[in-house]
Amino acid sequence: VIVGGGVAAHECAFELRRQGFDGHVEIVSAETVPPYDRTWVSKGLVTGERRPDEAFLSPGAAYADAGIRLTLGRRAVGIDVARSELLLERSASLAFDRLVICSGGEPRLPAALRAPGVLTIRELGDASRLRAVLSAGDDIAVIGAGFIGGEVASAAAALGKAVTLLEAASAPLAHVLGDQVAARMRALHVSMGVDLRCGVAVRGITRRDGRFSLSLANGGTVEAAAVVAGVGMAPAVGWLEGSGVECEDGVLTDSFGRTSVPGILAAGDCARWSSEHYGGRLRIEHWDTAARHGAAVASSVVGRESSLDVVPFHWSEQHGVLHQWVGHAPAWDRVEIDDVDPPRTYVARYFRQGSLVGVFAAGQPKAIAGGRRELGYPVPQARDAA
Ligand SMILES: Cc1cc2nc3c(=O)[nH]c(=O)nc-3n(C[C@H](O)[C@H](O)[C@H](O)COP(=O)(O)OP(=O)(O)OC[C@H]3O[C@@H](n4cnc5c(N)ncnc54)[C@H](O)[C@@H]3O)c2cc1C
Repeated sequence: VIVGGGVAAHECAFELRRQGFDGHVEIVSAETVPPYDRTWVSKGLVTGERRPDEAFLSPGAAYADAGIRLTLGRRAVGIDVARSELLLERSASLAFDRLVICSGGEPRLPAALRAPGVLTIRELGDASRLRAVLSAGDDIAVIGAGFIGGEVASAAAALGKAVTLLEAASAPLAHVLGDQVAARMRALHVSMGVDLRCGVAVRGITRRDGRFSLSLANGGTVEAAAVVAGVGMAPAVGWLEGSGVECEDGVLTDSFGRTSVPGILAAGDCARWSSEHYGGRLRIEHWDTAARHGAAVASSVVGRESSLDVVPFHWSEQHGVLHQWVGHAPAWDRVEIDDVDPPRTYVARYFRQGSLVGVFAAGQPKAIAGGRRELGYPVPQARDAA
């Protein structure tokens, strides 16, 4: 039984079949639609360049063909470990031999940002809701200039809306990419007409006559017809409380995705695994990592344990520029920037003690391919269980 309807769950289910597993496979998802490409939710599905029906990872028939049962619109609420049962809402339960937790994440929404009509962006329906409010109004305030906030701002600007992008830090993504790249991200937004305001915290939001009013910590206010909060996500693990599965900012696992409870594994955005390659614990919120995790835990389920360690890879599209990141660099001591045509084309290489630890590139996919080779994917530590 696999809990979750994201890419980790999808890859886990199909990889189980590729690995020759012939037992019952069931995906239990709180979402009412089959797994889809979540990365489009803040991009093409908002601009209308992509249609929701194109977003599904596999055609509906593929699940039946592979003998994968899709149980949609059902939320898991707990695990009875002693009985090996997954507890579902409405007092139902599902017995399992192995359980894979792929419950991903949910948007954070601090109390100051909670007001009726404030949107967060994670699920398919969020993109259509945002499209609807954008078509009804001329301006939008986006709170948080991280990857998702930046993408929403970019999509709204592409639709001709007046965009105010509010960021509490000194520049967009300064904390993850450093000041030099952050300055280029800022320049990109500004060059596309986004009213980017940094060092600005939102203290409260009210709504009157269909208009939002955001009060800022510096005493100012911003008015808009729509508000999107893109201030990060939290792993969706609340439902595991009291189950015995250890969680701390995600489900704690070993490097093969095994949790504290035998027979229960975890993968994707919700998993915080013990990394042999990087040392310490890692929880990554990237599509590629979640997909690879899903496949890796499927191997572990069939007794060919496969490491969750991969070199993290991530992309973001903003204002027509493909931004990509490869590596793992919680800290660095030197950044080398190769400006081709900033802020749309450049490469930043991050070093720690003389070694390359990450590459960020705008409009330069070849630099990412090179960086990936230089960083080297750790050889998956597959080993057959005794
Ligand atoms: C808007 C957006 C844009 C993104 N863009 C990019 C990008 O451009 N590039 C990139 O690398 N990454 C991107 N990401 C990150 C990437 O999408 C995630 O890393 C990836 O989706 C994680 O997959 P997952 O399967 O681990 O979890 P999720 O995709 O979060 O899926 C979790 C699933 O579990 C379900 N679930 C949760 N709790 C329960 C429960 N109790 N019972 C049953 N089901 C439950 C949820 O409904 C959901 O279906 C983006 C994320 C978002 C939100």
